[in-house]
Amino acid sequence: MIILKGRVIDGNGGQPIEKGAVVLEGNTIRLVCAEKDLPDYPESPDIQVFEIEDGSILPGLIDTHVHMGWGSAKAIDWIGSTPQMQTCIALRDMQQLRDSGYTAFRDLGSDVVLMRPAAEAGYISCPRIFAAGRILTQIGGHGDPYHKITIEAAQSLYNVAYIVNGVDEVRKACRINARNGADLIKIMTTGGVFSNGDKAGEISHFSRDEIRAAVEEAENMGSYVSSHAQANRGIRTALECGVKSIEHGFYLDDYCIDLMLKNDCWYIPTLSIMHTSKVYFEKKEGVLPYLKEKTMKSYEAHYRAVEKARKAGVKIGMGCDFLGDAEFGCSYDKATMEFERMAFAGFTPLEIVRMATKVNSEIILMADKLGTLEAGKLADVILVKGDMSKSVDPITDSSNVKLVVQDGKIVKNIM
Ligand SMILES: [Zn+2]
Repeated sequence: MIILKGRVIDGNGGQPIEKGAVVLEGNTIRLVCAEKDLPDYPESPDIQVFEIEDGSILPGLIDTHVHMGWGSAKAIDWIGSTPQMQTCIALRDMQQLRDSGYTAFRDLGSDVVLMRPAAEAGYISCPRIFAAGRILTQIGGHGDPYHKITIEAAQSLYNVAYIVNGVDEVRKACRINARNGADLIKIMTTGGVFSNGDKAGEISHFSRDEIRAAVEEAENMGSYVSSHAQANRGIRTALECGVKSIEHGFYLDDYCIDLMLKNDCWYIPTLSIMHTSKVYFEKKEGVLPYLKEKTMKSYEAHYRAVEKARKAGVKIGMGCDFLGDAEFGCSYDKATMEFERMAFAGFTPLEIVRMATKVNSEIILMADKLGTLEAGKLADVILVKGDMSKSVDPITDSSNVKLVVQDGKIVKNIM
């Protein structure tokens, strides 16, 4: 049994219990209450009690947009990577993420799904994995890694995307992902900032038939499609064809917002990767011109899109979209930058915690088991030094994340 005492922020978005307690038994939350209502418990080596001055108790955080194992922010570096290299980098990434307070994540493009059996067998310890497997991209799309080589060469390289053409190839790629254990399907209906041959903010990728085929295959898996969608046309087409989760969404307009509300979609802006890019490009000489130009062009539009979605009441999730590149400033020990960015975008600390826990648990289809501190849910809980109801600053420094409990087991303890 583990008993945590402190300010309880349960993830539902309401005011915290200032002097509260959370009792964990096995891998389950048994009780969430005011400290004064805590039943008497005996001194016992089987009962561990944790309390720090000015501590906040939160549900384990969830990040809904990661790519475990990429290790670089440059498309050119992805060429020549190997499964072995990506596996090792993913182990490091997952460790950094969990040390920052995350007990689950949604991976939107990598082979990390193939590591889940190893986690289940106890060979490795990592956050809970909810993953799309490999991305589906069209020829010349954002996941076609480097547009300066021939398509034949690109298709023969190790890549975390399937470069597909036509409905049949879309279905085949979805089914291979499903066979590998994928939990959802990730497609790319626009270009992107980091790919060198497309116009991120202006174009649309995939035909409607291809998108609808992916949606049908995902529904056959009991799940949904997430789309990397930055340009307006690619967001619209995705939404019209049944995509449930829009990533980035730089150019959301009223029509898109209405469709998102009507279809009960999620919007995951991933402000952190864009911010990191901007900061890096501003200080670094000699950056590839296309990268800098695309980033600067969409940066302001991105925040306008978030503002629109926030005001309309679209369900917004939190994901950093980091690539595990320390030099670039997007390694996973900085994943909580998304908290700071959301605060900058106008959300309150309690709203942000709710997005990173409750809303994100819906996005990984585990809202019945994770995302809030409630009796009966799984024991994924963190203890953070500082008042997370007043400011998100404490969580942005992982040394304030004193205790991480996942599935009832202590996986970080720097008390
Ligand atoms: Zn991404």
